[in-house]
Amino acid sequence: MRDYRLIVNGELVESVSGNRFNVINPATSEVIGSVPDGVPEDAVSALQAAERAFPGWAALPPTVRADYMHKSAELIRARKRDIAVTLTMEQGKPLRDAEKEVQDAAAAIDFFADEGIRIRGEVIPTGVTSALSIVVKQPIGVCVAITPWNYPVSLLAWKVGPALAAGCSIVAKPASETPLSSIEFVRCFLDAGVPKGVINIVTGSGGKIGRELVQNPITKKVALTGSTLVGKCVASLAGEHLKKVSLELGGHSPFIVFGDADLKSAVAEGVRRSFRNMGQICNAVNRILVHESIADEFIDMFVEGTKNMTIGNGLNNPDVDLGPMVNEEGIKRTMTHIQDALDRGARLLCGGRKPAGKEFERGFFLKPAVLVDVPRDSIIMQEETFGPAVAIVKFESLDEAIHLANATQYGLVAYAYTQDIETIITLVNMLDFGTVCINNTVAASVQAPYGGWKESGVGVELSHHAMDEYLHIKHVRIQG
Ligand code: NAP
Repeated sequence: MRDYRLIVNGELVESVSGNRFNVINPATSEVIGSVPDGVPEDAVSALQAAERAFPGWAALPPTVRADYMHKSAELIRARKRDIAVTLTMEQGKPLRDAEKEVQDAAAAIDFFADEGIRIRGEVIPTGVTSALSIVVKQPIGVCVAITPWNYPVSLLAWKVGPALAAGCSIVAKPASETPLSSIEFVRCFLDAGVPKGVINIVTGSGGKIGRELVQNPITKKVALTGSTLVGKCVASLAGEHLKKVSLELGGHSPFIVFGDADLKSAVAEGVRRSFRNMGQICNAVNRILVHESIADEFIDMFVEGTKNMTIGNGLNNPDVDLGPMVNEEGIKRTMTHIQDALDRGARLLCGGRKPAGKEFERGFFLKPAVLVDVPRDSIIMQEETFGPAVAIVKFESLDEAIHLANATQYGLVAYAYTQDIETIITLVNMLDFGTVCINNTVAASVQAPYGGWKESGVGVELSHHAMDEYLHIKHVRIQG
């Protein structure tokens, strides 16, 4: 049992409420720890600490901020195993995946530390020779990072990295299912000597403490990764004060397989991208659109690949492919999507039930499901399942594939497998998604921008573009 505290102004503190809530291991349903059940007053204390710390941190040379950040990243790497164990115990992903997440988070902090050194403005010629227009970039102020439970460490790093590098201070609010690994992550910055109040973390219900963090006037920018529903709520609250927001929200990714695709690779990557982290990934494949000429062969291979996935408690078996879902609600939602498709005439080729055996009895386990003949008005074809279920439908032409792929309110990531360059160029031009992956499924890498179109979000994370989300632009006109 691990009992954690809030980190406010460099101190480990309890909530003023005096209350705590438990964190559950989804593989066993056992309580593994607890955190303070924060209330708006705790959010205000954290914001005030960040406000006090901001001028000093912003005034540091970027190289000094980078040194602090690299030192923090080193500590994250040194504690990789411990943080990963906590992450597996609270979120469920296999230990091998958890270690990779922590490693990637440290790499993101290193990447942004160096991006902070490269912040640069412009000199713009004016209409007269006696004046210069100069553009300078300055940190926006106190930022708030609100994160979900599916990648609690890396998605926090994607926000903390550019914020600190830009010279901003920050208050983090992790998801209530997975606060422990986020607190351990923030602790690394504290132990690396980052000045008090520059990075703070508070826990508690999003509807209470999260709301306060968004609407409090101290907050100048909100970065949220979460559902589209919560994204809209946060955007409208932030909009009351016209605060800057970046929102990484839900997705509904199509995976298009053309007749000339490298089938082996499309199947292997498609299976992995559909079910990794139990499909609880914003860029998980939701719909597979496969050309009718290869559909039967593809479906046979895909079902076989899915059935071969191993499932278990990823703490005892670090190398299993899949762990449990994060909670019972996820299982219910996935089963509702599967049942709705079946009621409309779809066929379930595998999965969609709890695996047999004692080790699965108390955890939120579900075998990955593959559905075919899925009517286009089924829930699974429209809404994010955020669970281990995928729908396969056939198409006849490129135009039909593009139309089907774009027929969603979401616009996060689209995948396609084909060898034909003309098809590739048409897809790149016509797919309405923030990321398009051709013949691969690596949707997010620290060097490249990641952001959603349509109802998948606003703004970008990762890459040098993410820095601008934490910077003001100032035009300075100098007359000689
Ligand atoms: P969620 O329910 O939207 O919660 C996300 C975060 O927002 C949590 O910390 C939550 O706190 C907080 N929150 C809830 N209501 C709030 C409010 N009124 N004001 C401020 N904060 C509030 O999402 P989730 O279930 O944790 O995560 C799954 C969703 O995240 C999926 O839709 C997925 O697609 C999306 N996601 C998107 C990306 C991307 O990059 N586009 C990446 C990963 C996940 P509590 O936990 O205390 O409720």
